[in-house]
Amino acid sequence: MATRQYALTDEQELLRATCRRMAVERAAPRAAEIDATAAYPEDLFQMLREAGLLGLPIPEAYGGAGAGWLSGCIAVEEFARVCYNTAYLLVITWGPLGAILAAGSEEQKQRYLGPLARGDLRGCIAVTEPSGGSDVAGMQTRAERDGDDYVITGRKCFITHAPQADFVLVFAKTDPTRGARGVSGFIVEKPAAGLAVGRPERKMGGRGLPSCEVSFDGVRVPRRALVGREHEGFMAGMVGFNRLRPVIGARGVGLAQGALDYAVAYAKERTAFGQPIAQFQGLRWMVADMAMQIEAARHLVYRAAALADAGAAGRDLAPLASMAKCFATDVAMKVAVDACQILGGYGVLQDFPLERFLRDAKLLQIVEGTNQIQRNIIADAVIGRTGRPAAG
Ligand SMILES: Cc1cc2nc3c(=O)[nH]c(=O)nc-3n(C[C@H](O)[C@H](O)[C@H](O)COP(=O)(O)OP(=O)(O)OC[C@H]3O[C@@H](n4cnc5c(N)ncnc54)[C@H](O)[C@@H]3O)c2cc1C
Repeated sequence: MATRQYALTDEQELLRATCRRMAVERAAPRAAEIDATAAYPEDLFQMLREAGLLGLPIPEAYGGAGAGWLSGCIAVEEFARVCYNTAYLLVITWGPLGAILAAGSEEQKQRYLGPLARGDLRGCIAVTEPSGGSDVAGMQTRAERDGDDYVITGRKCFITHAPQADFVLVFAKTDPTRGARGVSGFIVEKPAAGLAVGRPERKMGGRGLPSCEVSFDGVRVPRRALVGREHEGFMAGMVGFNRLRPVIGARGVGLAQGALDYAVAYAKERTAFGQPIAQFQGLRWMVADMAMQIEAARHLVYRAAALADAGAAGRDLAPLASMAKCFATDVAMKVAVDACQILGGYGVLQDFPLERFLRDAKLLQIVEGTNQIQRNIIADAVIGRTGRPAAG
């Protein structure tokens, strides 16, 4: 496993300060309302767009800031401290980036990455199907060659940003007999005949960005829509997931830090038995554990992101990226639970923010490969693969 270290630059510290100010002034006041109404935060998308943050990890050659994944993690962390959904807007923008960069044609990079960076185009990724999300290689959606075109048929579910997206990066079987080696990726631009987006699911968290079923009923795309070579989409998808996993971890770090900050401020004010509850050793040790876990998660996330920035890929990146995603999002869940506990009864009231943090944290352990799947990837790297089928 690679051992490259990281150090934050002055630019990255400035980025953090800028994002923190925007998060506190603009995103925090909107967070509860977005959660309550489940309305897409277009105003905050425009804020990120005007600030030039949507293009942070997108290379300069394709119209982005070229600041790398570590900078992306810092921005996501700062927004996630106050509003999961604002951080989600950054993450969702970068979703298709890894696969297109790794396997896309020059024409695709020029056509999609600059507009993504400028906020002129929005995308989504469609992998998961009603029959299962973890077993990526077991997907049923088919893409069949017909002359110079492919015809895509199947159903995807949980597809976040599908209503807003201008294009869908969809994965489908081009050879159903070859498992993971029979999967290909395609970019389907909307509108497309046969492509339909269902109603948003009613989710417990991440409610500002809709997740929907997307059906493909004989959707015809030209050959140039293929991302990478035919049958090699699984690998392109995995490269993309590995790049994005530290960013999901950063969302966990930010969420956990925000929950801790709120709980600590509360514990200093709230009194019981004639003293602030922050004086009780039972709570002090809980807070110490929360702070310790967050700091450990932050370093793991930054190191994995720095490794991605250094160009690591495949086995050099996958286990560390999985550790960063899994550890940081497990920490987010645990810290959110403990922060609610510190607030006592107020922890579960909707007039206080921590029950929202708790609901949002649960999503993080499931999205972008569940934390069981992350543990499989880590165990494969540490022990060696089992006979179990490949999973993303
Ligand atoms: C809010 C939200 C947004 C999402 N957005 C998107 C999106 O934009 N695009 C997209 O394609 N998908 C998206 N997903 C889907 C997500 O990626 C899947 O839910 C996830 O991969 C798990 O798939 P599943 O729900 O079918 O669970 P299953 O794969 O059915 O797994 C069920 C349980 O079994 C466990 N399990 C499965 N296989 C193994 C194994 N080999 N070893 C150990 N445990 C295992 C899982 O960890 C899980 O606990 C989203 C999901 C949510 C909740």
